[in-house]
Amino acid sequence: DGRAVGWRFDNTYARLPEALFASATPARVQGPRVSILNHGLAAELGLDLAALAPDEAAALFSGQTLAAESRPIAQAYAGHQFGGFTMLGDGRAILLGEHLTPSGRLVDIQLKGPGRTRFSRGGDGRAALGPMLREYIISEAMAALGIPTTRSLAVVTTGEPVYRTSPLKGAILTRVAASHIRVGTFEYAVRRDEATLRALAEYAIARHYPELVGAPRKYLEFLRAVADRQAALVARWMLVGFIHGVLNTDNVAISGETIDYGPCAFMNAYDPGTVFSSIDHAGRYAYGNQPNITQWNLARFAETLLPIIDSDPEKSVAAATAVLGEFPARFERHWLEGMRKKLGLRTEEAGDAELVQSLLELMHKTRADFTNTFRDLSGEELPADDRYQDPDFRAWHSRWQERLVRDGQPMSSARGLMRSVNPAVIPRNHRVEEALSAAEERDDLSVMHRLLEALASPYEDRPELAPYREPPADECGYRTFCG
Ligand code: AMP
Ligand code: MG
Ligand code: MG
Repeated sequence: DGRAVGWRFDNTYARLPEALFASATPARVQGPRVSILNHGLAAELGLDLAALAPDEAAALFSGQTLAAESRPIAQAYAGHQFGGFTMLGDGRAILLGEHLTPSGRLVDIQLKGPGRTRFSRGGDGRAALGPMLREYIISEAMAALGIPTTRSLAVVTTGEPVYRTSPLKGAILTRVAASHIRVGTFEYAVRRDEATLRALAEYAIARHYPELVGAPRKYLEFLRAVADRQAALVARWMLVGFIHGVLNTDNVAISGETIDYGPCAFMNAYDPGTVFSSIDHAGRYAYGNQPNITQWNLARFAETLLPIIDSDPEKSVAAATAVLGEFPARFERHWLEGMRKKLGLRTEEAGDAELVQSLLELMHKTRADFTNTFRDLSGEELPADDRYQDPDFRAWHSRWQERLVRDGQPMSSARGLMRSVNPAVIPRNHRVEEALSAAEERDDLSVMHRLLEALASPYEDRPELAPYREPPADECGYRTFCG
């Protein structure tokens, strides 16, 4: 039953009002086989995967065997997708329960792609190997970068095809998350009844914002706290060039973790208009639009809390509106704080935002690689590249150097700070695609293992990682698709 692995399961979500979930059973599959196991994460979770034979691991991470205490459910939720409201729910995911880690954290253990649930509508509840490995690679890269994110514990192939535009290998991802409560979960709950909404809010506060339990104006403070975590999160994305790709309200986690790695990608050349997702024609979820759209998503969240913020509807609206109005400044503060570090600055000056903005404008004009430019600035000497000889860049560089002198710390320590926040290695699209084709077409996981190894220490200067730092020769037409 998997107990030997070290599960310490609870089913706290399944004790919430019944409207919030439906029981679900992972489908039987033909030939489950482990594609990849995350031993590092397993150790953090207090799990002993070495205790498992390969077929036992495959059975466990495809839901063929369950922990004795597991009570699997599919969660109900709704959401605004590309601006339009829809009822959703886990159509291809099953929550096995919550596991208590050795450090006392409660984490969701969820299978993605285990077959149909009550919320599957016309879908098959299944997932294909490529997108599951893609989520594994990028979520693990985000974790290594220090960005709040769901994690990936395992990918198992099912031995069964899934039918998309062509037959693909079926697979199941085991996702580990602080929780899977989304803005969309609240959008669903508020449309049920106030008791369900209150129960969900109490649960989310106790689980993710325990400092607010018993606080006066608790629900308003909850909104403020979620808004602040989202502001901090989207700032972290912006600072590494991450584009989520599908920031629908059902993909915004109340915990403040990055969730749902569908059409996400890292930007190469700096351009705020960068869009990778093949379905995002209007650029709603473009790199530079992520702060705006996060504020829009938080407005949908605020609306769900209106009935419980204050018994007087007008007062509720006024209080929530004021909190939402703080968002741009909150985001800006997190972003500028991060940008100062990217430029090696520990002090604050009024002109800093403008100094950053001029660099970004130069980078935009010259289509400079976002990641490599900041990493180059973090070194002792700039590489011999025409871009860095450009007179406008030279002028900016002198202003920056003067600013660093006023900052008052030794250059070596500024460079140390910069190297700790400006990654050398990010999951470049062409590298990710290369790893996925080897795995999908040739059953060769070695390319992916080498990539994961490089991504595991993104801030290190290792000469052998140089190939992973190169931008693609030509990224025209590159598109990501939903899993
Ligand atoms: P996503 O685009 O991954 O955020 O998913 C949006 C909604 O579609 C969620 O409710 C998913 O559960 C559902 N969904 C996505 N793929 C499938 C599938 N193959 N079968 C059933 N439901 C799905
Ligand atoms: Mg989703
Ligand atoms: Mg998805």
